[in-house]
Amino acid sequence: MSLQPEPTLRQVVTDASTRLGGVDARHEAELLLLHVLERPRSWLFAHATDPLPAAEQTAFEALLGRRLAGEPVAYLTGRRGFWTLDLEVDPATLIPRPETELLVELALERLPPDLALHLADLGTGSGAIALALASERPLAQVLATDASAAALAVAARNAARHELGNVRFAEGGHDWYAPLRCERFDLIASNPPYIASADPHLQQGDLRFEPATALASGVDGLDDIRRIVAGGGDHLQPGGWLLIEHGWDQGDAIRALFEQAGYSDVQTVQDLEQRDRVTLG
Ligand code: GLN
Repeated sequence: MSLQPEPTLRQVVTDASTRLGGVDARHEAELLLLHVLERPRSWLFAHATDPLPAAEQTAFEALLGRRLAGEPVAYLTGRRGFWTLDLEVDPATLIPRPETELLVELALERLPPDLALHLADLGTGSGAIALALASERPLAQVLATDASAAALAVAARNAARHELGNVRFAEGGHDWYAPLRCERFDLIASNPPYIASADPHLQQGDLRFEPATALASGVDGLDDIRRIVAGGGDHLQPGGWLLIEHGWDQGDAIRALFEQAGYSDVQTVQDLEQRDRVTLG
Protein backbone atom coordinates (compact mmCIF):
# COMPACT_ATOMS: atom_id res chain seq x y z
CA MET A 1 0.00 0.00 0.00
CA SER A 2 1.53 3.31 -1.04
CA LEU A 3 0.94 6.28 1.17
CA GLN A 4 -0.08 9.37 -0.85
CA PRO A 5 1.69 12.50 0.36
CA GLU A 6 -0.70 15.16 1.63
CA PRO A 7 -1.36 17.65 -1.18
CA THR A 8 -0.44 21.29 -0.66
CA LEU A 9 -3.17 23.89 -0.25
CA ARG A 10 -2.25 25.28 -3.68
CA GLN A 11 -2.65 21.85 -5.27
CA VAL A 12 -6.01 21.39 -3.58
CA VAL A 13 -7.27 24.77 -4.79
CA THR A 14 -6.04 24.19 -8.34
CA ASP A 15 -7.61 20.74 -8.53
CA ALA A 16 -10.92 21.98 -7.10
CA SER A 17 -11.00 24.96 -9.51
CA THR A 18 -10.62 22.62 -12.46
CA ARG A 19 -13.48 20.49 -11.21
CA LEU A 20 -15.71 23.52 -10.53
CA GLY A 21 -14.96 25.29 -13.81
CA GLY A 22 -16.18 28.79 -14.63
CA VAL A 23 -14.75 32.27 -14.08
CA ASP A 24 -15.18 32.25 -10.30
CA ALA A 25 -13.89 28.71 -9.74
CA ARG A 26 -10.58 29.58 -8.11
CA HIS A 27 -12.13 32.16 -5.79
CA GLU A 28 -14.88 29.73 -4.81
CA ALA A 29 -12.39 26.93 -4.12
CA GLU A 30 -10.38 29.26 -1.90
CA LEU A 31 -13.46 30.39 0.04
CA LEU A 32 -14.49 26.79 0.71
CA LEU A 33 -10.99 25.74 1.75
CA LEU A 34 -10.55 28.75 4.03
CA HIS A 35 -13.92 27.98 5.59
CA VAL A 36 -12.72 24.46 6.42
CA LEU A 37 -9.44 25.79 7.80
CA GLU A 38 -11.17 28.67 9.64
CA ARG A 39 -8.66 31.13 8.25
CA PRO A 40 -9.01 34.55 6.62
CA ARG A 41 -8.26 35.00 2.93
CA SER A 42 -4.97 36.83 3.58
CA TRP A 43 -3.59 33.76 5.36
CA LEU A 44 -3.60 31.59 2.24
CA PHE A 45 -0.92 33.50 0.34
CA ALA A 46 1.77 32.77 2.92
CA HIS A 47 0.64 29.14 3.39
CA ALA A 48 0.07 27.93 -0.17
CA THR A 49 2.69 25.20 0.16
CA ASP A 50 1.42 23.89 3.52
CA PRO A 51 0.04 20.34 3.37
CA LEU A 52 -3.71 19.81 3.86
CA PRO A 53 -4.25 17.19 6.60
CA ALA A 54 -6.54 14.24 5.87
CA ALA A 55 -9.42 15.34 8.13
CA GLU A 56 -9.57 18.73 6.43
CA GLN A 57 -9.29 17.05 3.03
CA THR A 58 -12.41 15.04 3.84
CA ALA A 59 -14.31 18.10 5.07
CA PHE A 60 -13.26 20.10 2.01
CA GLU A 61 -14.25 17.29 -0.36
CA ALA A 62 -17.73 17.19 1.21
CA LEU A 63 -18.23 20.94 0.70
CA LEU A 64 -16.89 20.73 -2.85
CA GLY A 65 -19.37 17.95 -3.62
CA ARG A 66 -22.25 20.12 -2.42
CA ARG A 67 -20.99 23.05 -4.49
CA LEU A 68 -20.73 20.79 -7.54
CA ALA A 69 -24.37 19.84 -6.91
CA GLY A 70 -25.28 23.54 -7.11
CA GLU A 71 -25.44 24.85 -3.54
CA PRO A 72 -24.31 28.49 -3.37
CA VAL A 73 -20.87 29.08 -1.83
CA ALA A 74 -22.34 31.66 0.54
CA TYR A 75 -24.70 29.06 2.06
CA LEU A 76 -21.85 26.54 2.38
CA THR A 77 -19.61 29.00 4.22
CA GLY A 78 -22.48 30.88 5.90
CA ARG A 79 -20.80 34.17 4.99
CA ARG A 80 -20.94 36.83 2.32
CA GLY A 81 -19.15 40.15 1.97
CA PHE A 82 -21.35 43.18 1.27
CA TRP A 83 -20.20 46.81 1.22
CA THR A 84 -17.53 46.87 3.99
CA LEU A 85 -19.27 44.20 6.05
CA ASP A 86 -18.76 40.47 6.46
CA LEU A 87 -22.32 39.15 6.83
CA GLU A 88 -23.76 35.88 8.08
CA VAL A 89 -26.23 34.43 5.57
CA ASP A 90 -28.35 31.28 5.59
CA PRO A 91 -31.05 29.78 3.36
CA ALA A 92 -33.67 32.02 5.03
CA THR A 93 -31.95 35.06 3.51
CA LEU A 94 -31.21 36.09 -0.04
CA ILE A 95 -27.48 36.18 -0.72
CA PRO A 96 -26.51 39.87 -0.98
CA ARG A 97 -25.43 40.81 -4.52
CA PRO A 98 -22.83 43.38 -5.58
CA GLU A 99 -25.55 45.15 -7.65
CA THR A 100 -27.29 46.09 -4.42
CA GLU A 101 -24.26 48.16 -3.41
CA LEU A 102 -25.40 50.61 -6.12
CA LEU A 103 -28.59 51.16 -4.13
CA VAL A 104 -26.50 51.83 -1.00
CA GLU A 105 -24.35 54.36 -2.91
CA LEU A 106 -27.42 56.18 -4.26
CA ALA A 107 -28.94 56.30 -0.78
CA LEU A 108 -25.76 57.66 0.82
CA GLU A 109 -25.59 60.44 -1.80
CA ARG A 110 -28.95 61.60 -0.42
CA LEU A 111 -28.10 61.29 3.29
CA PRO A 112 -26.11 64.17 4.85
CA PRO A 113 -23.82 62.56 7.47
CA ASP A 114 -24.46 65.20 10.13
CA LEU A 115 -28.23 64.72 10.48
CA ALA A 116 -30.13 62.27 12.70
CA LEU A 117 -32.12 60.82 9.81
CA HIS A 118 -34.77 58.11 9.91
CA LEU A 119 -34.22 55.35 7.37
CA ALA A 120 -36.05 52.13 6.53
CA ASP A 121 -35.03 48.99 4.66
CA LEU A 122 -38.06 46.93 3.59
CA GLY A 123 -37.34 43.20 3.23
CA THR A 124 -33.90 43.39 4.78
CA GLY A 125 -32.98 39.66 4.56
CA SER A 126 -29.49 39.33 6.03
CA GLY A 127 -29.63 43.06 6.84
CA ALA A 128 -27.29 44.05 4.00
CA ILE A 129 -28.79 47.43 3.03
CA ALA A 130 -29.84 48.46 6.55
CA LEU A 131 -26.45 47.63 8.07
CA ALA A 132 -24.45 49.27 5.27
CA LEU A 133 -26.46 52.49 5.75
CA ALA A 134 -26.24 52.27 9.55
CA SER A 135 -22.46 51.80 9.42
CA GLU A 136 -21.98 54.79 7.08
CA ARG A 137 -24.43 57.04 8.93
CA PRO A 138 -23.93 56.42 12.68
CA LEU A 139 -26.30 59.28 13.60
CA ALA A 140 -29.16 57.78 11.61
CA GLN A 141 -31.80 55.43 13.05
CA VAL A 142 -32.55 52.53 10.72
CA LEU A 143 -35.65 50.34 10.80
CA ALA A 144 -35.19 46.99 9.02
CA THR A 145 -38.26 44.88 8.25
CA ASP A 146 -38.80 41.38 6.92
CA ALA A 147 -41.66 38.91 6.58
CA SER A 148 -39.34 36.13 7.76
CA ALA A 149 -38.54 35.85 11.47
CA ALA A 150 -35.64 33.55 10.56
CA ALA A 151 -34.16 36.22 8.29
CA LEU A 152 -34.57 38.89 10.96
CA ALA A 153 -32.69 36.70 13.43
CA VAL A 154 -29.76 36.53 10.99
CA ALA A 155 -29.93 40.30 10.40
CA ALA A 156 -29.98 40.99 14.15
CA ARG A 157 -26.89 38.82 14.66
CA ASN A 158 -25.16 40.72 11.86
CA ALA A 159 -26.03 44.03 13.53
CA ALA A 160 -24.69 42.76 16.85
CA ARG A 161 -21.46 41.44 15.30
CA HIS A 162 -20.78 44.80 13.69
CA GLU A 163 -21.91 46.65 16.84
CA LEU A 164 -24.51 48.64 14.94
CA GLY A 165 -26.84 49.72 17.73
CA ASN A 166 -28.71 52.16 15.48
CA VAL A 167 -30.75 49.48 13.71
CA ARG A 168 -34.15 48.24 14.88
CA PHE A 169 -35.95 45.22 13.46
CA ALA A 170 -39.65 44.64 12.85
CA GLU A 171 -41.45 41.65 11.41
CA GLY A 172 -44.09 42.29 8.78
CA GLY A 173 -45.57 40.35 5.91
CA HIS A 174 -47.49 41.18 2.77
CA ASP A 175 -48.44 44.66 3.86
CA TRP A 176 -44.98 46.13 3.41
CA TYR A 177 -45.70 49.22 5.49
CA ALA A 178 -47.44 47.64 8.49
CA PRO A 179 -44.18 47.34 10.51
CA LEU A 180 -43.57 51.08 9.96
CA ARG A 181 -46.83 51.93 11.80
CA CYS A 182 -47.45 55.65 11.33
CA GLU A 183 -43.80 56.68 11.32
CA ARG A 184 -42.40 58.75 8.47
CA PHE A 185 -38.89 58.33 7.09
CA ASP A 186 -36.34 60.46 5.28
CA LEU A 187 -35.43 57.56 3.05
CA ILE A 188 -36.93 54.15 2.38
CA ALA A 189 -34.85 51.57 0.49
CA SER A 190 -35.82 48.11 -0.67
CA ASN A 191 -34.49 45.18 -2.65
CA PRO A 192 -37.84 43.38 -2.87
CA PRO A 193 -38.69 40.23 -4.81
CA TYR A 194 -39.02 41.24 -8.46
CA ILE A 195 -38.72 38.13 -10.63
CA ALA A 196 -41.77 36.91 -12.60
CA SER A 197 -43.08 33.75 -10.94
CA ALA A 198 -42.79 31.71 -14.17
CA ASP A 199 -39.26 32.94 -14.99
CA PRO A 200 -37.12 29.85 -15.73
CA HIS A 201 -34.14 31.52 -14.01
CA LEU A 202 -35.78 30.65 -10.68
CA GLN A 203 -34.97 27.01 -11.50
CA GLN A 204 -31.30 27.75 -12.25
CA GLY A 205 -28.04 28.45 -10.41
CA ASP A 206 -28.03 29.94 -6.92
CA LEU A 207 -31.68 31.07 -7.22
CA ARG A 208 -32.85 27.45 -6.79
CA PHE A 209 -31.52 27.47 -3.25
CA GLU A 210 -32.64 30.94 -2.21
CA PRO A 211 -36.00 31.72 -0.54
CA ALA A 212 -38.68 31.98 -3.25
CA THR A 213 -40.44 34.63 -1.16
CA ALA A 214 -37.38 36.87 -1.59
CA LEU A 215 -37.29 36.41 -5.36
CA ALA A 216 -40.65 35.90 -7.08
CA SER A 217 -43.43 38.47 -7.20
CA GLY A 218 -46.41 37.63 -9.34
CA VAL A 219 -46.92 37.26 -13.08
CA ASP A 220 -44.75 40.23 -14.11
CA GLY A 221 -42.51 40.32 -11.02
CA LEU A 222 -43.94 43.70 -10.02
CA ASP A 223 -46.60 42.79 -7.43
CA ASP A 224 -44.50 43.83 -4.45
CA ILE A 225 -42.95 46.87 -6.13
CA ARG A 226 -46.46 48.15 -6.99
CA ARG A 227 -47.40 48.00 -3.29
CA ILE A 228 -44.14 49.56 -2.13
CA VAL A 229 -44.40 52.47 -4.57
CA ALA A 230 -48.10 53.06 -3.83
CA GLY A 231 -47.65 53.12 -0.05
CA GLY A 232 -44.42 55.15 0.10
CA GLY A 233 -46.12 58.55 0.13
CA ASP A 234 -47.75 57.85 3.49
CA HIS A 235 -44.42 56.96 5.09
CA LEU A 236 -41.99 59.50 3.66
CA GLN A 237 -41.14 62.90 5.10
CA PRO A 238 -41.59 65.81 2.68
CA GLY A 239 -38.52 65.69 0.43
CA GLY A 240 -37.87 62.07 1.40
CA TRP A 241 -36.66 59.41 -1.03
CA LEU A 242 -37.83 55.97 -2.04
CA LEU A 243 -35.20 53.75 -3.72
CA ILE A 244 -36.04 50.35 -5.18
CA GLU A 245 -33.82 47.74 -6.78
CA HIS A 246 -35.35 45.90 -9.74
CA GLY A 247 -34.67 43.83 -12.84
CA TRP A 248 -32.89 45.17 -15.93
CA ASP A 249 -36.08 45.23 -18.01
CA GLN A 250 -38.38 46.83 -15.42
CA GLY A 251 -37.10 50.44 -15.39
CA ASP A 252 -39.77 51.93 -17.70
CA ALA A 253 -42.66 50.23 -15.89
CA ILE A 254 -41.38 51.25 -12.46
CA ARG A 255 -40.75 54.87 -13.43
CA ALA A 256 -44.37 54.97 -14.65
CA LEU A 257 -45.53 53.59 -11.26
CA PHE A 258 -43.54 56.29 -9.41
CA GLU A 259 -44.92 59.03 -11.64
CA GLN A 260 -48.54 57.84 -11.36
CA ALA A 261 -48.15 57.83 -7.58
CA GLY A 262 -47.01 61.48 -7.62
CA TYR A 263 -43.26 61.16 -6.88
CA SER A 264 -40.98 63.82 -8.33
CA ASP A 265 -37.33 63.65 -9.49
CA VAL A 266 -37.94 60.09 -10.66
CA GLN A 267 -34.97 58.42 -12.32
CA THR A 268 -33.58 55.00 -13.06
CA VAL A 269 -29.87 54.34 -12.53
CA GLN A 270 -27.87 51.64 -14.28
CA ASP A 271 -25.47 49.22 -12.64
CA LEU A 272 -21.85 48.54 -13.67
CA GLU A 273 -23.11 46.30 -16.46
CA GLN A 274 -25.13 49.24 -17.81
CA ARG A 275 -28.44 47.64 -17.02
CA ASP A 276 -31.35 49.43 -15.32
CA ARG A 277 -31.10 48.46 -11.66
CA VAL A 278 -32.44 51.08 -9.23
CA THR A 279 -35.33 53.52 -9.60
CA LEU A 280 -35.78 56.34 -7.13
CA GLY A 281 -38.03 59.32 -6.55
N1 GLN B 1 -30.84 40.17 -8.15
C1 GLN B 1 -31.40 38.88 -7.95
C2 GLN B 1 -31.20 38.05 -9.19
O1 GLN B 1 -31.81 38.30 -10.21
C3 GLN B 1 -32.84 38.95 -7.57
C4 GLN B 1 -33.03 39.65 -6.28
C5 GLN B 1 -34.45 40.00 -6.04
O2 GLN B 1 -35.40 39.45 -6.57
N2 GLN B 1 -34.61 40.95 -5.20
O3 GLN B 1 -30.39 37.17 -9.18
